[in-house]
Amino acid sequence: MRNLKEAMFYKKLKEEKVNCNLCPHSCVIPVDEAGECGVRKNVEGKLYSLVHSKACALSIDPIEKKPLYHFFPGAESLSVATVGCNFSCHFCQNYNISQISPEKVFGDNYPPEKIVELAERYGSKIISYTYTEPTIFYEYAFDTMKLAKEKGLKNIWVSNGYTNIEPIKKMAPFLDAINIDVKGNEEVYKSLCGASLQPVLNSLKEYKKHNIWIEVTSLIIPGYNDSLEWINFLSKWINDNLGKKTPLHLSRFSPQYKMLETEPTPLKTLEKLYGAAKKKLDYIYIGNIPTSRYGNTYCPKCGDLAIRREGFKAEIKKLKCEKCNEKIPGVFD
Ligand code: SF4
Ligand code: SF4
Ligand SMILES: [Zn+2]
Repeated sequence: MRNLKEAMFYKKLKEEKVNCNLCPHSCVIPVDEAGECGVRKNVEGKLYSLVHSKACALSIDPIEKKPLYHFFPGAESLSVATVGCNFSCHFCQNYNISQISPEKVFGDNYPPEKIVELAERYGSKIISYTYTEPTIFYEYAFDTMKLAKEKGLKNIWVSNGYTNIEPIKKMAPFLDAINIDVKGNEEVYKSLCGASLQPVLNSLKEYKKHNIWIEVTSLIIPGYNDSLEWINFLSKWINDNLGKKTPLHLSRFSPQYKMLETEPTPLKTLEKLYGAAKKKLDYIYIGNIPTSRYGNTYCPKCGDLAIRREGFKAEIKKLKCEKCNEKIPGVFD
């Protein structure tokens, strides 16, 4: 079998079964089978990651594309992914790598040293673990993050937040920022993602405890989570648990994968939800729309423009409001 790495966070059970404790699915896996994510397999009573050092996507992206708007605006990051995911979202943009077995798409051999070397060579001071779900390639991400930190680079995750508390604690010293997509209420998680909301909220609170910079995304899908009820719940929850300065990105849905029949989210709906979220939170953005009007950062006190964005480009104007001295929150140079 190609290079396997023994998994972190699992227990051995009777009859050579194993119990994976990396994510809330808590899979009990018999010999020769893989867990729900498809990339962690029981071989002779031990759990192995099938995707360590197997990058199936690698590219340099602007940090705004993650999206992270308050973390080194305008910077580029080297982005890496392996195949697999612990969710099965019907709207997944990257289903060709997230919903496929590692037997079908191997990924190329990029050990952690090579990833860090590439980031340095291309002058990227940030490495993003993204496109699929970094939780399921935890060991690969963890080894790379440790090395990257030693070299003075930053690490960010773009995640569904479905990670257990112990793994979060272990990697927290090496993680600088995270964007978590909160997909909707429990019904949305059950019907569209094969998962559950509460563990995602728990993990957000854990990241907050470790002072990791957090931004939240919610992909607004017509007929599923485009109600005021959802956005009022989410913005209040963020305000109460993460603070009103936590950026929230409302992202426009466009037909994908198993949801080709669902219409793109109307701009009017997004504007209505934007208005509701603004009552509870200081920094709301709308993404995946033709106009950049909702991508700028404005001072929440006086409304002055702080950061202008065009597409995925950020023009940094000021990180402190010139008119009223309000500090724009985030991690900047
Ligand atoms: S990481 Fe994979 S194997 Fe482990 S509990 Fe989650 S879905 Fe199951
Ligand atoms: S969590 Fe993300 S990568 Fe995984 S299936 Fe859902 S949208 Fe795709
Ligand atoms: Zn101001």
